[in-house]
Amino acid sequence: MNTIYDLAAVEQFRRQYRVDPHQLKRLRYQYFRGGRSQSQAYRELPESVRWAFRQAISLDRLRLTRRIDSATDGATRLLFRTPGQQTVESVILRAPEGRTSMCVSSQVGCAARCTFCASGYVRPVTDLDAIEIVDQVAQANQLLIAENRRVRNVVFMGMGEPFHNENQVTRAARMLHNDDWFGLSARRTMVSTVGIPEAMLRWSGSFPRSPLAISLHTVDQRLRESLIPIAQRYPLPLLRDAMQRMAVAGSPSLLIEYLLLRGINDSLAQADALVRYLDGLPVHVNLIPYNPIAAAPHLRSTPRPQREAFGARLRERGLTVTIRYSQGRDIAAACGQLAAGAAG
Ligand code: SF4
Repeated sequence: MNTIYDLAAVEQFRRQYRVDPHQLKRLRYQYFRGGRSQSQAYRELPESVRWAFRQAISLDRLRLTRRIDSATDGATRLLFRTPGQQTVESVILRAPEGRTSMCVSSQVGCAARCTFCASGYVRPVTDLDAIEIVDQVAQANQLLIAENRRVRNVVFMGMGEPFHNENQVTRAARMLHNDDWFGLSARRTMVSTVGIPEAMLRWSGSFPRSPLAISLHTVDQRLRESLIPIAQRYPLPLLRDAMQRMAVAGSPSLLIEYLLLRGINDSLAQADALVRYLDGLPVHVNLIPYNPIAAAPHLRSTPRPQREAFGARLRERGLTVTIRYSQGRDIAAACGQLAAGAAG
Protein backbone atom coordinates (compact mmCIF):
# COMPACT_ATOMS: atom_id res chain seq x y z
CA MET A 1 0.00 0.00 0.00
CA ASN A 2 1.20 3.52 -0.75
CA THR A 3 1.77 5.94 2.09
CA ILE A 4 1.35 9.67 2.62
CA TYR A 5 5.10 9.93 2.02
CA ASP A 6 4.75 8.65 -1.59
CA LEU A 7 4.15 12.01 -3.20
CA ALA A 8 3.60 10.61 -6.70
CA ALA A 9 0.90 8.21 -5.45
CA VAL A 10 -0.80 10.97 -3.45
CA GLU A 11 -0.78 13.24 -6.50
CA GLN A 12 -2.19 10.48 -8.68
CA PHE A 13 -5.01 9.98 -6.19
CA ARG A 14 -5.64 13.71 -6.05
CA ARG A 15 -5.99 13.95 -9.82
CA GLN A 16 -8.14 10.86 -10.11
CA TYR A 17 -10.57 12.03 -7.42
CA ARG A 18 -10.19 15.75 -8.17
CA VAL A 19 -9.23 16.63 -4.63
CA ASP A 20 -8.33 20.24 -3.88
CA PRO A 21 -4.53 20.34 -3.21
CA HIS A 22 -5.18 22.60 -0.19
CA GLN A 23 -7.27 19.90 1.42
CA LEU A 24 -4.41 17.43 1.12
CA LYS A 25 -2.03 20.03 2.44
CA ARG A 26 -4.27 20.59 5.45
CA LEU A 27 -4.51 16.83 6.07
CA ARG A 28 -0.73 16.63 6.09
CA TYR A 29 -0.44 19.67 8.34
CA GLN A 30 -2.95 18.34 10.85
CA TYR A 31 -1.29 14.94 10.96
CA PHE A 32 2.36 15.97 11.15
CA ARG A 33 2.18 19.30 12.94
CA GLY A 34 -1.29 19.93 14.25
CA GLY A 35 -1.39 17.16 16.85
CA ARG A 36 -4.47 15.58 15.28
CA SER A 37 -5.23 11.86 15.26
CA GLN A 38 -5.34 10.02 11.95
CA SER A 39 -9.16 10.02 11.88
CA GLN A 40 -9.25 13.74 12.58
CA ALA A 41 -6.68 14.42 9.86
CA TYR A 42 -8.67 12.41 7.31
CA ARG A 43 -11.62 14.69 8.00
CA GLU A 44 -9.81 17.41 6.07
CA LEU A 45 -10.87 15.55 2.91
CA PRO A 46 -14.40 15.67 1.51
CA GLU A 47 -16.47 12.82 2.86
CA SER A 48 -17.03 11.50 -0.67
CA VAL A 49 -13.33 10.60 -1.13
CA ARG A 50 -12.33 9.82 2.46
CA TRP A 51 -12.96 6.11 2.28
CA ALA A 52 -11.17 5.74 -1.07
CA PHE A 53 -8.20 7.69 0.28
CA ARG A 54 -7.90 5.47 3.35
CA GLN A 55 -7.99 2.40 1.12
CA ALA A 56 -5.30 3.78 -1.18
CA ILE A 57 -2.96 5.79 1.06
CA SER A 58 -1.82 4.84 4.54
CA LEU A 59 -0.42 7.41 6.95
CA ASP A 60 1.98 4.83 8.44
CA ARG A 61 5.03 3.18 6.95
CA LEU A 62 5.97 1.10 10.00
CA ARG A 63 3.69 -1.16 12.02
CA LEU A 64 3.74 -0.51 15.75
CA THR A 65 3.93 -3.98 17.32
CA ARG A 66 4.61 -3.23 20.96
CA ARG A 67 4.64 -0.41 23.48
CA ILE A 68 6.35 -0.83 26.86
CA ASP A 69 6.02 1.94 29.47
CA SER A 70 8.55 2.35 32.24
CA ALA A 71 7.21 1.87 35.74
CA THR A 72 9.88 4.13 37.21
CA ASP A 73 10.29 7.12 34.88
CA GLY A 74 8.89 8.78 31.78
CA ALA A 75 10.33 6.43 29.16
CA THR A 76 8.30 4.43 26.65
CA ARG A 77 9.91 1.86 24.42
CA LEU A 78 8.29 1.37 21.01
CA LEU A 79 8.86 -1.63 18.77
CA PHE A 80 7.99 -1.32 15.09
CA ARG A 81 7.98 -3.78 12.21
CA THR A 82 9.36 -2.51 8.89
CA PRO A 83 7.86 -3.50 5.51
CA GLY A 84 10.94 -5.79 5.26
CA GLN A 85 9.76 -7.54 8.48
CA GLN A 86 12.58 -6.27 10.67
CA THR A 87 12.14 -4.88 14.15
CA VAL A 88 13.11 -1.30 14.93
CA GLU A 89 13.08 0.32 18.34
CA SER A 90 12.61 3.91 19.47
CA VAL A 91 12.26 5.49 22.87
CA ILE A 92 10.03 8.36 24.00
CA LEU A 93 11.57 10.31 26.88
CA ARG A 94 9.37 12.56 28.99
CA ALA A 95 11.19 15.10 31.13
CA PRO A 96 9.48 15.92 34.45
CA GLU A 97 9.32 19.60 33.47
CA GLY A 98 7.27 18.71 30.40
CA ARG A 99 9.70 18.44 27.48
CA THR A 100 9.25 15.37 25.29
CA SER A 101 12.17 13.92 23.35
CA MET A 102 12.57 10.93 21.15
CA CYS A 103 15.49 8.69 20.48
CA VAL A 104 15.12 7.28 16.95
CA SER A 105 16.93 4.44 15.20
CA SER A 106 18.64 4.89 11.86
CA GLN A 107 19.59 1.23 11.32
CA VAL A 108 18.64 -2.23 12.49
CA GLY A 109 21.76 -3.38 14.34
CA CYS A 110 25.00 -1.45 14.06
CA ALA A 111 28.30 -2.16 12.33
CA ALA A 112 30.22 -0.02 14.82
CA ARG A 113 30.03 -3.03 17.19
CA CYS A 114 30.66 -1.10 20.39
CA THR A 115 31.24 -3.74 23.06
CA PHE A 116 29.00 -2.00 25.61
CA CYS A 117 25.97 -1.66 23.32
CA ALA A 118 23.32 -4.28 22.58
CA SER A 119 22.70 -2.85 19.08
CA GLY A 120 26.31 -3.69 18.17
CA TYR A 121 25.54 -7.41 18.55
CA VAL A 122 22.46 -7.46 16.29
CA ARG A 123 23.02 -9.05 12.88
CA PRO A 124 22.48 -8.51 10.01
CA VAL A 125 22.83 -4.74 9.94
CA THR A 126 20.30 -2.99 7.72
CA ASP A 127 19.86 0.68 6.89
CA LEU A 128 16.46 2.25 7.45
CA ASP A 129 15.24 4.65 4.80
CA ALA A 130 14.34 8.23 5.65
CA ILE A 131 10.61 7.48 5.83
CA GLU A 132 11.17 4.60 8.23
CA ILE A 133 13.13 7.01 10.41
CA VAL A 134 10.64 9.89 10.47
CA ASP A 135 7.64 7.58 10.78
CA GLN A 136 8.94 6.64 14.25
CA VAL A 137 8.34 10.28 15.23
CA ALA A 138 4.95 10.55 13.49
CA GLN A 139 3.64 7.46 15.26
CA ALA A 140 5.02 8.53 18.63
CA ASN A 141 3.15 11.81 18.20
CA GLN A 142 -0.05 9.84 17.63
CA LEU A 143 0.45 8.04 20.96
CA LEU A 144 1.28 11.29 22.72
CA ILE A 145 -1.98 13.01 21.71
CA ALA A 146 -3.69 11.38 24.71
CA GLU A 147 -1.16 13.09 27.00
CA ASN A 148 -1.33 16.43 25.25
CA ARG A 149 2.34 16.14 24.37
CA ARG A 150 4.35 16.18 21.15
CA VAL A 151 7.90 15.18 20.30
CA ARG A 152 9.91 18.42 20.50
CA ASN A 153 13.45 17.03 20.34
CA VAL A 154 14.71 14.22 18.15
CA VAL A 155 18.04 12.51 18.77
CA PHE A 156 19.53 10.02 16.33
CA MET A 157 20.79 7.94 19.20
CA GLY A 158 18.78 4.73 18.89
CA MET A 159 20.03 1.69 16.99
CA GLY A 160 22.70 2.41 14.41
CA GLU A 161 25.60 4.75 13.74
CA PRO A 162 23.78 7.57 11.89
CA PHE A 163 26.76 8.38 9.67
CA HIS A 164 26.84 4.79 8.39
CA ASN A 165 23.49 5.66 6.83
CA GLU A 166 24.30 9.29 6.17
CA ASN A 167 22.15 9.91 3.07
CA GLN A 168 18.95 8.62 4.62
CA VAL A 169 19.61 10.33 7.95
CA THR A 170 20.23 13.59 6.08
CA ARG A 171 16.94 13.16 4.19
CA ALA A 172 15.15 12.37 7.43
CA ALA A 173 16.59 15.46 9.12
CA ARG A 174 15.45 17.63 6.20
CA MET A 175 11.92 16.24 6.53
CA LEU A 176 11.92 16.83 10.28
CA HIS A 177 12.94 20.46 9.71
CA ASN A 178 10.67 21.06 6.71
CA ASP A 179 7.58 23.14 7.48
CA ASP A 180 5.55 21.02 5.04
CA TRP A 181 6.27 17.96 7.19
CA PHE A 182 7.27 18.11 10.88
CA GLY A 183 8.51 21.70 11.13
CA LEU A 184 10.93 20.99 14.00
CA SER A 185 13.68 23.46 14.72
CA ALA A 186 17.11 22.33 13.49
CA ARG A 187 18.39 23.11 17.00
CA ARG A 188 16.17 20.36 18.30
CA THR A 189 17.51 17.51 16.19
CA MET A 190 20.80 16.00 17.23
CA VAL A 191 22.94 13.27 15.74
CA SER A 192 25.05 11.12 18.02
CA THR A 193 28.11 9.55 16.39
CA VAL A 194 31.10 7.49 17.44
CA GLY A 195 33.12 10.17 15.64
CA ILE A 196 33.55 9.88 11.87
CA PRO A 197 35.44 13.09 11.11
CA GLU A 198 34.61 13.65 7.44
CA ALA A 199 30.90 12.93 8.02
CA MET A 200 30.84 15.25 11.04
CA LEU A 201 32.20 18.06 8.90
CA ARG A 202 29.69 17.39 6.12
CA TRP A 203 26.86 17.29 8.66
CA SER A 204 27.80 20.55 10.32
CA GLY A 205 28.10 22.12 6.85
CA SER A 206 24.56 20.98 5.95
CA PHE A 207 22.99 21.63 9.37
CA PRO A 208 25.03 24.38 11.00
CA ARG A 209 22.45 24.94 13.76
CA SER A 210 22.01 21.28 14.70
CA PRO A 211 23.98 20.04 17.69
CA LEU A 212 26.20 16.99 17.42
CA ALA A 213 27.06 14.47 20.12
CA ILE A 214 30.29 12.49 19.99
CA SER A 215 30.60 9.20 21.84
CA LEU A 216 34.16 9.58 23.07
CA HIS A 217 34.31 7.37 26.19
CA THR A 218 38.11 7.59 26.54
CA VAL A 219 41.05 9.51 25.10
CA ASP A 220 43.32 6.47 25.10
CA GLN A 221 43.39 5.27 21.49
CA ARG A 222 43.97 1.59 22.28
CA LEU A 223 41.32 1.51 24.96
CA ARG A 224 38.93 3.32 22.64
CA GLU A 225 39.49 0.72 19.92
CA SER A 226 38.72 -2.04 22.41
CA LEU A 227 35.40 -0.35 23.26
CA ILE A 228 34.56 0.93 19.76
CA PRO A 229 36.29 -1.33 17.21
CA ILE A 230 35.78 1.03 14.26
CA ALA A 231 37.66 3.74 16.17
CA GLN A 232 40.85 2.28 14.69
CA ARG A 233 39.90 4.02 11.44
CA TYR A 234 39.51 7.38 13.15
CA PRO A 235 42.50 8.22 15.37
CA LEU A 236 41.85 10.63 18.22
CA PRO A 237 43.97 13.50 16.78
CA LEU A 238 41.88 13.35 13.58
CA LEU A 239 38.69 13.49 15.63
CA ARG A 240 39.95 16.45 17.62
CA ASP A 241 40.94 18.22 14.42
CA ALA A 242 37.37 17.81 13.07
CA MET A 243 35.93 19.22 16.32
CA GLN A 244 38.32 22.14 16.10
CA ARG A 245 37.30 22.87 12.51
CA MET A 246 33.62 22.72 13.44
CA ALA A 247 34.22 25.13 16.31
CA VAL A 248 36.04 27.57 14.03
CA ALA A 249 33.13 27.35 11.56
CA GLY A 250 30.76 28.38 14.38
CA SER A 251 28.99 25.06 15.05
CA PRO A 252 26.94 24.88 18.23
CA SER A 253 28.71 23.50 21.28
CA LEU A 254 29.58 19.81 20.89
CA LEU A 255 28.24 17.29 23.33
CA ILE A 256 30.86 14.81 24.48
CA GLU A 257 29.33 11.53 25.61
CA TYR A 258 31.44 9.66 28.15
CA LEU A 259 30.16 6.31 29.37
CA LEU A 260 31.65 5.53 32.77
CA LEU A 261 32.82 1.92 33.06
CA ARG A 262 34.07 0.72 36.41
CA GLY A 263 37.83 0.22 36.50
CA ILE A 264 38.16 0.86 32.76
CA ASN A 265 37.87 4.59 32.04
CA ASP A 266 36.78 6.17 35.32
CA SER A 267 39.99 7.13 37.16
CA LEU A 268 40.85 10.71 38.02
CA ALA A 269 43.98 10.41 35.86
CA GLN A 270 41.67 9.56 32.94
CA ALA A 271 39.53 12.58 33.82
CA ASP A 272 42.67 14.75 33.61
CA ALA A 273 43.59 13.22 30.25
CA LEU A 274 40.09 14.03 29.00
CA VAL A 275 40.50 17.65 30.11
CA ARG A 276 43.78 17.90 28.20
CA TYR A 277 42.28 16.38 25.06
CA LEU A 278 39.32 18.76 25.08
CA ASP A 279 41.35 21.84 25.95
CA GLY A 280 40.16 24.88 24.00
CA LEU A 281 37.13 23.18 22.41
CA PRO A 282 33.56 24.47 23.02
CA VAL A 283 32.18 21.27 24.52
CA HIS A 284 29.74 20.09 27.13
CA VAL A 285 30.55 16.73 28.71
CA ASN A 286 27.77 14.29 29.43
CA LEU A 287 28.74 11.52 31.87
CA ILE A 288 26.56 8.47 31.31
CA PRO A 289 26.11 5.52 33.65
CA TYR A 290 26.59 2.16 31.96
CA ASN A 291 23.39 0.18 31.50
CA PRO A 292 24.18 -3.53 31.73
CA ILE A 293 23.56 -5.77 28.73
CA ALA A 294 23.65 -9.57 28.62
CA ALA A 295 26.22 -9.63 25.81
CA ALA A 296 28.86 -7.85 27.92
CA PRO A 297 28.77 -9.37 31.42
CA HIS A 298 32.37 -8.26 32.07
CA LEU A 299 31.42 -4.56 32.02
CA ARG A 300 30.12 -2.82 35.12
CA SER A 301 28.83 0.61 35.89
CA THR A 302 30.96 3.06 37.86
CA PRO A 303 29.35 3.54 41.30
CA ARG A 304 27.66 6.87 41.89
CA PRO A 305 30.26 8.39 44.29
CA GLN A 306 33.02 7.75 41.72
CA ARG A 307 30.88 9.14 38.92
CA GLU A 308 30.40 12.28 40.93
CA ALA A 309 34.11 12.51 41.76
CA PHE A 310 34.95 12.15 38.05
CA GLY A 311 32.47 14.89 37.18
CA ALA A 312 33.76 17.15 39.96
CA ARG A 313 37.31 16.75 38.67
CA LEU A 314 36.26 17.82 35.17
CA ARG A 315 34.40 20.82 36.57
CA GLU A 316 37.38 21.85 38.71
CA ARG A 317 39.45 21.86 35.53
CA GLY A 318 36.95 24.16 33.80
CA LEU A 319 34.67 21.85 31.79
CA THR A 320 30.89 22.05 31.87
CA VAL A 321 29.52 18.68 32.85
CA THR A 322 26.19 16.94 33.24
CA ILE A 323 25.92 13.62 35.02
CA ARG A 324 23.06 11.99 33.23
CA TYR A 325 20.44 9.75 34.68
CA SER A 326 19.38 7.13 32.12
CA GLN A 327 15.64 6.83 31.66
CA GLY A 328 14.10 3.51 30.71
CA ARG A 329 16.49 1.09 32.44
CA ASP A 330 13.62 -1.07 33.71
CA ILE A 331 12.32 -1.62 30.16
CA ALA A 332 15.73 -2.12 28.45
CA ALA A 333 15.29 1.22 26.71
CA ALA A 334 18.23 3.09 28.20
CA CYS A 335 21.37 4.08 26.30
CA GLY A 336 23.07 1.04 24.79
CA GLN A 337 20.24 -1.38 25.54
CA LEU A 338 18.26 -1.33 22.28
CA ALA A 339 18.52 -4.67 20.53
CA ALA A 340 15.63 -4.89 18.08
CA GLY A 341 13.27 -6.57 20.47
CA ALA A 342 15.78 -9.12 21.71
CA ALA A 343 15.42 -7.92 25.27
CA GLY A 344 11.69 -7.35 25.06
S1 SF4 B 1 26.73 2.76 20.74
FE1 SF4 B 1 25.88 3.60 18.87
S2 SF4 B 1 27.53 3.34 17.39
FE2 SF4 B 1 28.02 1.96 19.09
S3 SF4 B 1 27.10 -0.02 18.52
FE3 SF4 B 1 25.58 1.11 19.73
S4 SF4 B 1 24.30 2.12 18.23
FE4 SF4 B 1 26.21 1.55 17.21
